[in-house]
Amino acid sequence: MPLHSTATVTSHDRDSLRAALVAMGEKAFRADQILRHVYRRCAVSYDEMTDIGVALREKLKVELPVMSTAAPEENKSNDGTAKLLVPCADGQPVECVMIPEPPGKTPPERRTVCVSTQAGCPVGCVFCASGLAGLARNLSGAEITEQAIWVGRLVRKRYNDMDHPISNVVFMGMGEPFYNLDRVIAALERLNAEWGMGIGLNRMTVSTVGVEGGVMKLAEHPLAPNLAISLHAPNDEIRARVVPFAKALSVAEVIQEGVKYQQRTRRDVTCEYVMLGGINSGSDHARELARRLSGKSLKVNLIPYNEVEGLVYKAPSAKEVTEFSQILETAGIPAPVRRSRGDRIAAACGQLRLRKLEGAGPAKV
Ligand code: SAH
Ligand code: SF4
Repeated sequence: MPLHSTATVTSHDRDSLRAALVAMGEKAFRADQILRHVYRRCAVSYDEMTDIGVALREKLKVELPVMSTAAPEENKSNDGTAKLLVPCADGQPVECVMIPEPPGKTPPERRTVCVSTQAGCPVGCVFCASGLAGLARNLSGAEITEQAIWVGRLVRKRYNDMDHPISNVVFMGMGEPFYNLDRVIAALERLNAEWGMGIGLNRMTVSTVGVEGGVMKLAEHPLAPNLAISLHAPNDEIRARVVPFAKALSVAEVIQEGVKYQQRTRRDVTCEYVMLGGINSGSDHARELARRLSGKSLKVNLIPYNEVEGLVYKAPSAKEVTEFSQILETAGIPAPVRRSRGDRIAAACGQLRLRKLEGAGPAKV
């Protein structure tokens, strides 16, 4: 069944698209033809599907639009990262980011897309622009999937029509994926299926702040990908300051959910830790975190805070970051530092949308 009130190609899976075409008096094989164009070539209109006759294309344009979102604005950074602001049909701006890696290599070995799952976010972590204006609404499965198509299109334009434009997907944009899990699973299906983008589940990561019962629900699903859990604190007192959300899980619960997910799925599970100067970035915090994660086989990603306009927090010093990482590594816990890329285009999520909502327009690049 389509997942959105206005059915688009992206709101269907293969079976329901075949059924929709048959109901329109067309042959089922058209579905496979259209899906190949959309997910392999990142086509966004029937005019790009020249192996379909003009009369049928005109009919499909009216009865079954390809996309629910419109062409996005592109904000380029000098490190190769690009941030797209995708307009939804109701005007909600949705952010997604293309991250080529390693930086500077052409074509890049990995072309990662970071997608949003909600317009805004109800959680309100203190360092995050996405939570500042609260939640506007959940995104549909089509709207989540389409972000990867727009980014794939950009990759193909930049790198000579490459065949698999998207290599990795991270659900780390705006929103809390577990508050919109059914739609996230619909997007995972379209991105993973061989009739879709064909991206392996071991190349996709869903990031969550930890929602009661949510993590295990995904673990039980056949489409369970890698998991990132946003911990941000070594103890409950600091976690309550950084994630002041009534329904937030405790540090022990978050860690336990991560361990259970890994045992059940055998996928990678990583703890995300945004380092805020003077709050959670000291060496005592690192030692406390090391004790809590000892023997758990979870990795930590350290993310120095990226400044958000209007927020008072500050980035940790370079020395603090190195020491924090070393303390964890010495305790046998891998703890790479993930530098925010694209900070000139406000790539920490939610910043661009916020500017749009405040009427300031896209960041200068
Ligand atoms: N809501 C989910 C997924 C999206 S947010 C979650 O919180 O896990 C994902 C990540 O965005 C956060 O964990 C954090 O790593 C990053 N992030 C958001 N704002 C940031 C900022 N100002 N500086 C650095 N990282 C930030
Ligand atoms: Fe929401 Fe994630 Fe931002 Fe927290 S970090 S406000 S959970 S998007």
